[in-house]
Amino acid sequence: MATATKPKKSRPTDRKPTTPASPAAEDLNPFHIAQRQFDAAARYLPDLAPGLARFLKQPERLISLEFPIELADGTVLNFTGYRCLHSTVRGPGKGGIRYHQGVTADEVRALASWMTWKCAVADVPFGGAKGGVCFNPKEFTTSDIRKVTRRFIAALGDNIGPHTDIPAPDVNTDGGTMARIYDTYAMMHPGMNCLPIVTGKPLDLGGSLGRREATARGCLYATQRALQRGAVKGMSSLKNATVVIQGFGNAGAIAAELFHEQGARIIAASDTRGGIVRTEGLDPKAVIAHKQKTGSVVGFPGSKPISNEDILTLKCDVLIPAALENVIRSDNAEDINARIIAEAANGPTTPEADHILFARGIPVLPDILANAGGVTVSYFEWVQNIENEQWDEEEVNGKLLKKMQRATDAVLDTQEQIKASLSSIENKRRAAKMEGPRLTQVDLRMAAYILAIGRVAKVAFERGIWP
Ligand code: NAD
Repeated sequence: MATATKPKKSRPTDRKPTTPASPAAEDLNPFHIAQRQFDAAARYLPDLAPGLARFLKQPERLISLEFPIELADGTVLNFTGYRCLHSTVRGPGKGGIRYHQGVTADEVRALASWMTWKCAVADVPFGGAKGGVCFNPKEFTTSDIRKVTRRFIAALGDNIGPHTDIPAPDVNTDGGTMARIYDTYAMMHPGMNCLPIVTGKPLDLGGSLGRREATARGCLYATQRALQRGAVKGMSSLKNATVVIQGFGNAGAIAAELFHEQGARIIAASDTRGGIVRTEGLDPKAVIAHKQKTGSVVGFPGSKPISNEDILTLKCDVLIPAALENVIRSDNAEDINARIIAEAANGPTTPEADHILFARGIPVLPDILANAGGVTVSYFEWVQNIENEQWDEEEVNGKLLKKMQRATDAVLDTQEQIKASLSSIENKRRAAKMEGPRLTQVDLRMAAYILAIGRVAKVAFERGIWP
């Protein structure tokens, strides 16, 4: 039996940007990174009991599945898929399904744990989950991908459910994939309202207006709020701001449109095949049309080519990583030439890079805040599905704005509170004989983690540890 990793045809494969220039320098395992981030933030919560901290840090479960697909020519391929449920403390698990050749159990576990903290920062009543199937969908036909989706969802069976674990889109999955997930689950559960099993569905299948744009719109709202609150000296809005975007899919391409609408100039963009730069500004709609026609932003008329590494170090006001993990690392963080970074992608910045950027005074709006718009509108979709209602787009965007502003304020306020109470937290730690170096001021990622872990821990206590 062949495996899903063996390419069916020879096509360019996506390069997963996890290879640092200096390989020995950093541990780039995303789950190790997620755990280190948790541990670093937990030091600022001296009242958090070690046993509870350990429970909150670990995924509640990881399901690993093997399943076969028969291609049109009769070849049988085996696929490996995962679904991780990180936390159900604040509600059912929620998180996307990714199709990518770089999917691993640890990547899924990291992404699931980031979902827990993201839902807490955004204050939506979900826990964290994530799933993925390890294959490159660009090497398969639409019909093959449909079989992968149906077999994966059938194999998961009742390990997902409208009130237990609710999938959504992620890299290389979209509304069409979500429609297939709904259809497969509905076939297995006749006679019930299955719409809330999955979010990010097409509009005429219970999808929410505004969901397609929600990740990018949430990123816009968080950036605007942070700028209004003085996160970047001398820059209170996006008017005339220069913006660079790595990754030109759901999150990145729509961010280009929305930031452009607010008066920003998109000077560079990229996808797996490479990047384009035009200092006078790119017309996002025209670039999207070019990508739809040719499959890539590369070759957009009037632009110059740039590599996916060099795009990150271009001089700009706002840098938006919107592709995959570990692209801003210790080996390029010193060269970042942006005034603020808004993480539309999950996990684009390593902990070492975070330290460098914080020391250099470049604020990073962390993924668990900056891309929380997606899960927030997924939550709105889920509510609409349960009520069998459809809200108009203005209502969705208005509610999203409120949520993102509150979340951004809460993260910025937490950073200030930690700054003001460093010595009292330190005293508590010393009184409790906790080990480790002296606490220092925190960047926005740590502030968001501290806020999120505090919120989840509070609910765990309110519920009471069962039995
Ligand atoms: P997508 O598949 O729609 O787009 C991904 C884009 O990144 C594509 O343009 C692809 O060509 C590009 N890309 C992939 N590898 C690259 C590389 N090495 N260099 C440059 N570009 C590369 O996926 P998406 O849904 O836009 O997800 C992008 C990121 O946003 C992921 O980290 C995802 O987890 C995160 N995110 C997505 C959502 C959502 O609602 N879709 C929500 C929150 C977070």
